[in-house]
Amino acid sequence: MTARLLDGKAIAAAIRESVLPDVRAFAARAGRPPGLGIVLVGQDPASEVYVRNKVRAGSESGLWVDLQRLPATASLDDLLSLVERLNDSDTHDGILVQSPLPAAMGKGASQRVFDAIDPEKDVDGFHPVNVGKLVQGRAHLMPCTPSGVIEMLQRSDIPIGGRHAVVIGRSEIVGKPMAMLLLQRDATVTICHSKTPDLAAVAARADILVAAIGRPGFVTREFVKPGATVVDVGISPVTDPAIARRLFDESSPRLADFLRRGSIVVGDVHPSVAEVAGALTPVPGGVGPLTIAMLLKNTCTAASARHSGT
Ligand code: NAD
Repeated sequence: MTARLLDGKAIAAAIRESVLPDVRAFAARAGRPPGLGIVLVGQDPASEVYVRNKVRAGSESGLWVDLQRLPATASLDDLLSLVERLNDSDTHDGILVQSPLPAAMGKGASQRVFDAIDPEKDVDGFHPVNVGKLVQGRAHLMPCTPSGVIEMLQRSDIPIGGRHAVVIGRSEIVGKPMAMLLLQRDATVTICHSKTPDLAAVAARADILVAAIGRPGFVTREFVKPGATVVDVGISPVTDPAIARRLFDESSPRLADFLRRGSIVVGDVHPSVAEVAGALTPVPGGVGPLTIAMLLKNTCTAASARHSGT
């Protein structure tokens, strides 16, 4: 079997297209476009790329995107003051603080920052109020990556109700909300993590397997029931030739790409899973573009909710 590739780029483009009329309608009503404030602290190279993509996608969709940078030496108080200013701003409908924050800000800094964002502007869906609403099935701002995965499954006609979904990873931003969204769509959900015994055997019972771990090629074919849908959330840069060779055989164009550039971005799912799975998301070009599309959608949702009286 060769898995059907689920084209995240095409699905993301369709979602972004569907957001355009909402952007126009909001702008006509409010006299300004929906506004998204993005905060980037320091210069982490991966965060720079993610933020650049978010700024570009937002601008292309007609949002006003305000990138606010703080130096890596900024204190947590500096960051909290900036969040407070964006909370008070009438023109910022959504606020996103890019993770990870510099380690010098201390453990627990991210949580304090997420807690400080006005829940009405929390386009990442990380504020405890929105997490609570998500658990109760009444959130309107939900974390972008897992809600993007749901959109991808639905738009690809992959049934969720009554299926067994296994989520590997229990982070607050991907694993836990992913499990909750699948449960709300009537999947039977198992959440696995680093302490789960016999992980491959548990995963191999899944009709829908979501890998959100951050370990290159961790999910091998033994983890996958023939015909299952496999969603690869992982994004890891690989620079070690031994890892690249473990993932790609000598004739693979991706290995050639790696040898030319000295690095490559890979997911949590080993490429050989394509021979077993029924459907599979590629990395890159799978879940990543959906995350950005859902961010634009959330910004429109937040803007419309804040100005529902206008
Ligand atoms: P995280 O480090 O917060 O969580 C990783 C989870 O994986 C943990 O819950 C841990 O228990 C589990 N885990 C780690 N090692 C394991 C093992 N050996 N066996 C089983 N479980 C194990 O990471 P995260 O923020 O949830 O992100 C996960 C991956 O998804 C990363 O590669 C990240 O870059 C990527 N990501 C991608 C997108 C996207 O848009 N595609 C968005 C967010 C995160």
